[in-house]
Amino acid sequence: MSILVYIEQAEGSIKKTSLEAVSFARALADKTNGGEVVAVALGTVSEAELSHVGAAGASKVFHVEDSKLDAGVIQAHAEAVAQVYQKVGSKTLVMAKSSLGDAVAARLAIKLDAALVSNVVELPETDNGYTVKRSIYTGKAFAQTSVTKEHKILAIRKNAVDLKTDGAKASVEKVSLQIPDTNFATKITSTDKATGEILLPEADIVVSGGRGMKGPENWGMIEDLAKELGAATGCSKPVSDIGWRPHHEHVGQTGVKVAPTLYIAVGISGAIQHLAGVNSSKFIVVINKDPEAPFFKAADYGIVGDAFEVLPKLTEAVKAI
Ligand code: FAD
Repeated sequence: MSILVYIEQAEGSIKKTSLEAVSFARALADKTNGGEVVAVALGTVSEAELSHVGAAGASKVFHVEDSKLDAGVIQAHAEAVAQVYQKVGSKTLVMAKSSLGDAVAARLAIKLDAALVSNVVELPETDNGYTVKRSIYTGKAFAQTSVTKEHKILAIRKNAVDLKTDGAKASVEKVSLQIPDTNFATKITSTDKATGEILLPEADIVVSGGRGMKGPENWGMIEDLAKELGAATGCSKPVSDIGWRPHHEHVGQTGVKVAPTLYIAVGISGAIQHLAGVNSSKFIVVINKDPEAPFFKAADYGIVGDAFEVLPKLTEAVKAI
């Protein structure tokens, strides 16, 4: 029995979170019946990009090369994925948890009469169905959810699984689908903005500043380090409230939730509302002059020191690598 993976792309580049979903599906197939992992990619995507899907663990990619699907047209994506799912005869759909993915998954659950479990963080235990571990309360707790429905949709949280890149190849089958025009009535037009090139919610590395940076005139130090690391920049809520940084950079419970591999917090105290937006990060590095700052409790690595001394040294050290 094949497991189907819904692949998301942005401007022709396949999202890393979707490749993680492929690796998750491969591990799930190995754990259950050793079935095939197949994927569905929508819109304009090059063969080179599609090859990453094979490397991550899929044996076949169904490519619906309709440029109308390049944008995140929720209804059309749901319709296309549902048609491929039915063609494959799958019982499990795996995908990345994302803003587009959330909207598509909800529609797919209705279309396929499937159980939807979102924010999955581990391979499920399997018996009569799946018992799935998922992250809840913005990452503060985990719930075990039992899924007994025949059709299942699992949306995987970013960074929950290791991405496989073993170089295996997937065959690509071009598919042409009949998607009624009514499915293109609404679409998500991205409102994500980044000061630099990298979108904050997608970033693999984030350098974030708080009130400890004292003022917007000092943000060059944050940007210099971010540039050297290829990182996006973020900030705490008061920083964007005062107008030192734009609101779309505000990270936390009431702002952007990030899940990078590396989150560097500079001059941020670590209030619970800020932590709610960053606690899915793989590694957290905190730079704060107060050794009692609460953020150190959530940190993997901490530097107790003045940001104005530490940041330039850190940037120079990264440059020297
Ligand atoms: P501060 O609390 O002022 O901390 C500044 C830190 O910088 C201190 O730890 C200090 O030791 C350190 N520092 C000072 N000078 C230096 C230096 N030279 N070098 C190094 N370190 C230095 N906050 C968010 O961030 N995101 C949210 O989504 C959010 N949502 C909220 C929702 C609600 C309903 C409420 C009530 C609050 C919310 N907050 C949110 C605010 C949150 O409670 C904190 O007030 C806020 O996160 C503090 O921001 P900060 O750490 O930048 O500033």
